[in-house]
Amino acid sequence: MNAEAGRLAPGSTIGIIGGGQLGRMLSMASAQLGYRCHIYAPEEAPCAADVAARHVQGDYADEGALRDFAQQVDVVTYEFENVPAGPLCSLADIVPVQPNVAALELAQDRLSEKDYVVSHGGRPADYRAVSSLDDLQDALQAIGTPAILKTRRFGYDGKGQVRIKDADEAARAWAEIGEKPSVLEAHVRFEKEFSILIVRANDGTVRVWDAPENRHEDGILAQSSAPGGGIVAEQKAAAGDLARTIADTLDYVGVLTCEFFASAEGPVFNEMAPRVHNSGHWTIEGAATSQFENHIRAICGLPLGDTGVMAERVEMHNLIGGAADDWAQWLETNRAHLHLYGKGEARPGRKMGHVTQLF
Ligand code: AMP
Repeated sequence: MNAEAGRLAPGSTIGIIGGGQLGRMLSMASAQLGYRCHIYAPEEAPCAADVAARHVQGDYADEGALRDFAQQVDVVTYEFENVPAGPLCSLADIVPVQPNVAALELAQDRLSEKDYVVSHGGRPADYRAVSSLDDLQDALQAIGTPAILKTRRFGYDGKGQVRIKDADEAARAWAEIGEKPSVLEAHVRFEKEFSILIVRANDGTVRVWDAPENRHEDGILAQSSAPGGGIVAEQKAAAGDLARTIADTLDYVGVLTCEFFASAEGPVFNEMAPRVHNSGHWTIEGAATSQFENHIRAICGLPLGDTGVMAERVEMHNLIGGAADDWAQWLETNRAHLHLYGKGEARPGRKMGHVTQLF
């Protein structure tokens, strides 16, 4: 790190924890700016390693291996939020870890995250902490049905969630969630879903991308369109203010994603991810600076780039499972940009790539 400017000069090495497509696209953005990336991931051949200078295979909980990894790089970031916070904390005396571990810990626990959002003026769906069947029955009384029981930790892409239509399903739902500490959430009657992608530099400068409208299928993001119109356009300023407050109060550095439901009562906070996000993939061709480049700029102490939209409308389609077999067709479509992640087997539900179309 060039201490004078607080900058990590191009030519330095960035350590990325996690080896999936987010790490792959972060590594490609780093290379464009002249950095080298090392990937730390438990898999033998993670797709990020194909485009990185080095891959270290190791368990996320192996503090010794993580410390060795940190010795070889100039800054550490992560592309995956289910990394145990303890071992990551111990890296901070070797190299800067960005976004900071406090932000990671907050985002790892749905309950703390919602409490934090409420204490900073945001509004999640009505929720209650649940640690027993009795708690769940009380929570169902208080919130009513339909409701969704979500594990506090390790949920993603709709996993770790059970929908409850009627209070007499409590015992089944508690068993299905594995009797794990959870949060019961009211089912939100929303018109649309959207996200706020914000990037914050170490001097506190913030840039926000235009909010995409997101459509999910089976709990997995299927499509993002930017800029989101109608109710999303109406509610993005209030949601953006909340995301900014969260980023400022956490002294956050890097890209932060907050997901919202646009409802008749205003924006309802769903969850946050302390990282680049699938709903920001459209920014690679659709914005002046992509989420990946701005994340790298932020963690390296460089000035942030313009986040303006580069077309009237931008659409990102995820290629999930067998949908990636249509790759040749996308190459024949004008103003469509194909991204394949180089993953082997196209299992159902697996994110194999995406396409961004500019209109
Ligand atoms: P999550 O993993 O919490 O983002 O949930 C995945 C998807 O499930 C969301 O994008 C929504 O489509 C739906 N969902 C989650 N929580 C709720 C809720 N409280 N009310 C209505 N739909 C929800």
